[in-house]
Amino acid sequence: MDKNEQKRLYKNRVRTVIRLYLQDYKTTRPCSCGEGRHYCLVFHHRDETEKEFTIAHSRDKSFSTIVAEVAKCKVMCANCHNALHFLDDTISRERRAMEIETDDQLLLFEN
Ligand SMILES: [Zn+2]
Repeated sequence: MDKNEQKRLYKNRVRTVIRLYLQDYKTTRPCSCGEGRHYCLVFHHRDETEKEFTIAHSRDKSFSTIVAEVAKCKVMCANCHNALHFLDDTISRERRAMEIETDDQLLLFEN
């Protein structure tokens, strides 16, 4: 086995360990709706401003980097996660619309 082959096998083993760690982490933290199947669960960043990367797209990251990112997250099922983001987006869109309206109203007062 050459050095490149050894490296490839080592990387595959590391990825397997990380994948199993993430599955186990999810399984022990079911969504508040009761969903506990790891393949239905996702990592939701509690504070979007602290997010450095999406856990599901962390293939090239080290184990310790992933563990640190996971600590910023709450485990939720995909449905609850979608609902949360939909509601958040809707609320911020409405807030933005209200701000625009307010600015327009201010302009009207100035003229
Ligand atoms: Zn849920």
